[in-house]
Amino acid sequence: MNAPLAVVTGGAGFLGGHLCRRLLEGGFRVLVLDDFSTGDPASVAALAEHPGFALRRHDITQPWPAEVGEAARIFNLACPASPAAYQRSPVQTTLTSTLGTWRALEVALQSGARVLQASTSEVYGDPEVHPQHESYRGHVNPIGPRACYDEGKRVAETLCMAYHLERGVEVRIARLFNSYGPGLRPGDGRVVSNFIVQALRGEPLTVYGEGRQTRSFCHVDDTVDGLLRLMDASIEGPVNLGNPQEYSVLDLAERVLRLTGSRSRLEHRPLPADDPKRRCPDISLAERHLGWCPRVTLDAGLRDTIEHFRRELTSAR
Ligand code: UDP
Repeated sequence: MNAPLAVVTGGAGFLGGHLCRRLLEGGFRVLVLDDFSTGDPASVAALAEHPGFALRRHDITQPWPAEVGEAARIFNLACPASPAAYQRSPVQTTLTSTLGTWRALEVALQSGARVLQASTSEVYGDPEVHPQHESYRGHVNPIGPRACYDEGKRVAETLCMAYHLERGVEVRIARLFNSYGPGLRPGDGRVVSNFIVQALRGEPLTVYGEGRQTRSFCHVDDTVDGLLRLMDASIEGPVNLGNPQEYSVLDLAERVLRLTGSRSRLEHRPLPADDPKRRCPDISLAERHLGWCPRVTLDAGLRDTIEHFRRELTSAR
């Protein structure tokens, strides 16, 4: 009998590459749909030899290839996640999360697949409640520079719940909080990769604003473990997956300097519009329903990520 098929949209991206490897190890065949707008075939090159792995260049807003009809699972990860990247193409970002998710759900309606939607802590916007529980409805500017991502992901959640309630599609919704780890690309633009690359190159670390804003950084191994558990669990509403340890951006910068041994200085830049001031997940739902909580401390995860970037930068020379 054939192994079950998992479709991973955005499978050539940072999270996707790690997820595909785990799915293949877990006995799935994997079909990746990725338009390579921010993903890179190189991130799954190591999987290409696996007989159960297939990669298609495909924009998920366009009709999906017939081969997805066999899917038992759809992990809908496609969408640029770095603010720098998603703000470069706000129309396509919005359509990827809305039209693309609609297509995923239509495929699931036909094939009976279960869909896991990669949602985000950005659905909480610039939150007024701390830490953020799933019941918090958020504080999002619908026309600001982050809206293409935030509102796109909010509509994606809406579509998932509508297809579930009205048409019986099985859905899972993961609200991810600032994942990082090996596999991030040097030009990604998110804070962890920026700081590490800058520190290793001896360039100033670009701290936006005073650096007092906070984030809760979750190592990719923990994130992917949470995604796999959530897909197999029986909980239809959104679930936060993030590390509840909250750090300021300045604290992150200092850690990166300490762990790289870099003598780079800090250089303050203007704080981007609508940049959330605080972000920290309440993960009690994930703990209760998935038996999940993050294992990787920030220092251990940063060491691991620094090693990855040392290799990347050396091989790029
Ligand atoms: N940030 C920063 N310097 C950088 C990149 C980002 O100070 O070079 C800040 C950014 O303003 C935000 C935080 O780091 O407050 C996290 O930014 P990131 O782009 O990683 O993701 P976000 O959580 O904002 O989506």
